[in-house]
Amino acid sequence: MGTSFYKKRLNSAQYVSGILKGDRILLSKAITLIESKLPSDNALAENVLEQLLPHTGKSLRIGITGVPGVGKSSFIESFGKFLTSLRKKTAVLTIDPSSQRSKGSILGDKTRMEELANDPMAFIRPSAAGDTLGGVNSKSRETILLCEAAGFEVIIVETVGVGQSETAVRGIVDFFLLLMLAGAGDELQGIKKGIMEMADAIAVTKADGDNIRKSELAKREYQNALHMFPPNENGWYPKVVTCSSLNKTGIQEIWDIILQYEEIMKSKGYFQSNRQQQNISWMKEAISYYLQTAFYNTDEVKKMIALKTKEVGNGTTPAIMAAKEMLSLFFQQPGNPDEV
Ligand code: GDP
Repeated sequence: MGTSFYKKRLNSAQYVSGILKGDRILLSKAITLIESKLPSDNALAENVLEQLLPHTGKSLRIGITGVPGVGKSSFIESFGKFLTSLRKKTAVLTIDPSSQRSKGSILGDKTRMEELANDPMAFIRPSAAGDTLGGVNSKSRETILLCEAAGFEVIIVETVGVGQSETAVRGIVDFFLLLMLAGAGDELQGIKKGIMEMADAIAVTKADGDNIRKSELAKREYQNALHMFPPNENGWYPKVVTCSSLNKTGIQEIWDIILQYEEIMKSKGYFQSNRQQQNISWMKEAISYYLQTAFYNTDEVKKMIALKTKEVGNGTTPAIMAAKEMLSLFFQQPGNPDEV
């Protein structure tokens, strides 16, 4: 099989059988297909996904976030190596919200997670933020499903804790881990209270050398801070631990917490109901997305949008009126929307 085999689009059966065999090159190709904005790729992508659907859902999906420099890539490298040492096939999806704004990418550094990248039990896939909120779009969800079909048992979704993408990531994972620095001055390091509230566990990073005492102190501070939040509806009390990627400490403890969470949540049915809720949200987001796409692609709307934008901007037309005018144009289109 020459290299050209991998360059062009394949047929759906080729993607499906390759992924089910755990072929990482084909998995990568399929993710590229899923992420493609070409309308000609969409039907093929949907077809592949549909065939793979019965083979999805069995992984443990873990979201990891924290401010740049907190030690995310170092942690994921250590944690990922730990998981592969347990023979767990691990996929890491990194979502980079910065890539949208500038060419400079926070997560783009090629030296990140070098060891894990060379591990045959691991798969790392950086993906640029899409044009949806926080860069976490339906493509991230679909990518998780593809990785599951390829046999990955643990899927780590990494995002930079800069504020907008955490909520979206929380909505596609089972467990959410927040990494925090000790003694970085501001107790919350610009991490909004809301993000702490979403965490199932907080790990204070770089708990080694001179930093050990400070990390223990920070751990207690975060424990106290979490006590002020109302308990989770699922009855889980977020855990706080310290860890060091350098000394490989705290890694096993974090994994044990995640397994404990999984066991308790599965026995209470919360694990499943959380995923059901996530699927319902996905459906609603998809409806909004397809409606919007169809709306903005309507010729009549395209003709009016610049004018209406101008009128609303200079105050000659009220915003609601302009919106309603264009919406009625959209709904009046014969047979619209017939296809999205
Ligand atoms: P990210 O930006 O959150 O992905 O952070 P990195 O993993 O790139 O780490 C940022 C810096 O912290 C790097 O210089 C790392 O070498 C350092 N670092 C990461 N983890 C540890 C750790 O466990 N202990 C120590 N002492 N330094 C660490």
